[in-house]
Amino acid sequence: MKSALITGISGQDGSYLAEYLLELGYQVWGLVRREPLSMRWIEPVCSRIELVYGDLRDAESLAVAFQKAWPDEVYNLAGQVFVPTSWEVPAETFDINVGGLVRILQIVERTKRDTRVYQASSSEMMGNWDGMCDEQTPLRPTSPYGTSKLAAHRLMEVYRQRGLFSVGGILFNHESPRRGPEMVTRKITRVAAAWLLGSRTKLQLGNLQARRDWGFAGDYIKAMHAMLQRPEPKDYVIGTGTSHSVSDFLHATMAAMAELGPAANVPQSVEEWVEVNPQFLRTGEIHDLRADARLANVELNWKPKVGFTQLVKMMLESDLAIARG
Ligand code: GDP
Repeated sequence: MKSALITGISGQDGSYLAEYLLELGYQVWGLVRREPLSMRWIEPVCSRIELVYGDLRDAESLAVAFQKAWPDEVYNLAGQVFVPTSWEVPAETFDINVGGLVRILQIVERTKRDTRVYQASSSEMMGNWDGMCDEQTPLRPTSPYGTSKLAAHRLMEVYRQRGLFSVGGILFNHESPRRGPEMVTRKITRVAAAWLLGSRTKLQLGNLQARRDWGFAGDYIKAMHAMLQRPEPKDYVIGTGTSHSVSDFLHATMAAMAELGPAANVPQSVEEWVEVNPQFLRTGEIHDLRADARLANVELNWKPKVGFTQLVKMMLESDLAIARG
């Protein structure tokens, strides 16, 4: 039986990955902070996984987790992931996103060199690139978050050159009902659910023209696992290849609202329920991100299954159920 240690197991990606690895017969260990934001998403599998307390900023706690789990595979998914927060606390963002990986790589190198390490790299490393991004696209991040992910990515590469099996999954935006509520997709579906139940509180957003390549997180975690099963470590871009604007997401949400709720509670136009608030506009905005995932398609046999409309509806349905309590 293989064992895996997942940092950030209580988050969106960690919880889906834990479920998937359990299905594959893994022994799953999860690193959680003493006061995690919420255990909601891993509650259904809690009895089948082992949780260890730890923090990416605390090398000793990581060493203890490794001693307990002796993992064959480590998935480093924990991090400070919200771009605007990275401007407010850039040093902390680096300590977690870069320092956390250094501490993990150091432990792996010293204790069990054949442990394979997956690093959650990010499309935010790309910055503003005109066209589809693949593994060769120059990396020019525009925020402390993107820069921290790039630093971690480079670090992972130099440890790979020293012989560790470490890979960076360059995942484009991936969403689900478990997405953090501060991210734009979940922010939209949560307010949409409230509207269906009769609220008329306006949704405050920033740039409605920004475009992202949004896929379903449940599909993406399979690519993470596949990357660690390859004979040689290599980085892969993961995404759908299509981008939509925030405005497209709003329209898709309104269409899903029309399917799910009473017509009287479905706004007829974006203006009716959305207000642009300059507070949510970004310096260093990335205007469009689109993945060219052909390498993953060929070498990992990976393809996304859930499409954009289906994803939006899935998120709205879940938020509606949560709002109904
Ligand atoms: P990111 O791509 O990792 O930064 O994911 P987000 O979901 O946070 O943001 C995606 C895009 O939506 C960015 O271009 C944001 O500028 C844009 N956006 C517009 N309004 C909002 C908002 O109110 N909140 C967030 N999080 N993003 C917004």
